[in-house]
Amino acid sequence: MVLSASSLSHRVSQIEDSITLALNAQATQLAEQGKKIYNLTAGQLPFRPPEDLVNCLEAQLRFLKSFMYAPAAGFPDLRQKFLKHFVETRGLQNSSYDVLSRWDSVISNGAKHSLWQIFYSLLNEGDEVILFRPYWVSYPPMIELCGAKVVALNSTIFDSFVPSLEDLERALGPKTKAIVLNSPNNPSGTHYPEDWMRGLGEILTKNPHVVLISDEIYFQLSYFDPKPSYVYQYFPELLKRTIIVDGISKTFASTGLRIGVTMANREFLDGVSKLQAQTSSGANSLVQRALVDFDFSQIDKFLEPIRSHLRINAQCIRETFRKRGLDHAWYQSSSAFYYLLDFSHCPVIDSFRSGNKESGKLEEAKIEDVSPLLCEKILHELGPALVPGGDFGMPNTARLSLVMDAGPFAEAIAVIADFLASRPS
Ligand code: PLP
Repeated sequence: MVLSASSLSHRVSQIEDSITLALNAQATQLAEQGKKIYNLTAGQLPFRPPEDLVNCLEAQLRFLKSFMYAPAAGFPDLRQKFLKHFVETRGLQNSSYDVLSRWDSVISNGAKHSLWQIFYSLLNEGDEVILFRPYWVSYPPMIELCGAKVVALNSTIFDSFVPSLEDLERALGPKTKAIVLNSPNNPSGTHYPEDWMRGLGEILTKNPHVVLISDEIYFQLSYFDPKPSYVYQYFPELLKRTIIVDGISKTFASTGLRIGVTMANREFLDGVSKLQAQTSSGANSLVQRALVDFDFSQIDKFLEPIRSHLRINAQCIRETFRKRGLDHAWYQSSSAFYYLLDFSHCPVIDSFRSGNKESGKLEEAKIEDVSPLLCEKILHELGPALVPGGDFGMPNTARLSLVMDAGPFAEAIAVIADFLASRPS
């Protein structure tokens, strides 16, 4: 027997190829050929982490324990530290403390690993999980690999991609096991407002069988007021069935260090921790030990100039789009470091569809989502590299990242805005 694609299990062969990777490869190739490329695909901050964190890592290199196994769920002092950080930064009501006294945390190899273990520990075949569009690309494959079904609810640019709570009420049923909330959101770069969170609280209270998985990895990255808020701040009782996901990838500018954390009720986490013990033995000791020494309260200060930078780039989109009359393609982003371009209400989509239809390249009926084609055209002809929105559950959109330096970012946005505003000649 020769190992080949046909040797793959039915579970793994169902995982779809990512268009993002293909476009990234094209962007790299074009840049190597000397073409001016504005890479707006980044899912990470292009900055060094806080200097103190680097010092803590260096100091821990001296110790044998940094190279040996950690307890499977993570070093207890770090688990407590993440919990404390959560409690301090979220401003929880006093009545939450009783529930939180039954909480623990599990440290994993990045928030993605945390999420995978949560889904695997929680979901049975046939369970339904509600996602809000746009959603982070990795939720659906992970949920489907667990044999559960994704129920994805829509949102539009006109509501700044905040989904409707009426839709949520309609979608909830006896098979709903969990709702995944990602606020601030990748890829929309917005967080759900307080009144939405309060509305969610009322719905969850009426549906006691539903678990809330709150992916808060971008919590500290918000550059306009009001700041992100969460349903359990108004309905502390809901903490009893809430699972929090956080990590250091985004806010500590440390995607490569691979540390994520799950916080929830201790009994549930005992199961997660058993799974982790049998499948990965947990996260690396060196970074965990450095994090024990590192003062988390430095992060807010570390992020200050980064937030200003994101604010400037978000404002650049607003000004440039307004000047081009792209009012239907603009909304106010406020958090994380992304913006979702919506092609569907821009002149370019009509000219693109009609041009390609005439030349026979595009059969309109067959291709509903033209964003991969538009992104390819933008990349090859104009230089900006974007991520098509299909994998985020949003056809005819594309994600761009706000992390680039303000100068080249403004150039890229001008090029994109001219393209979006272009009409059939
Ligand atoms: N959750 C969201 C919403 C993300 O955007 C990402 C990374 O892009 C993750 C989780 C995973 O983060 P990590 O790098 O810690 O695995």
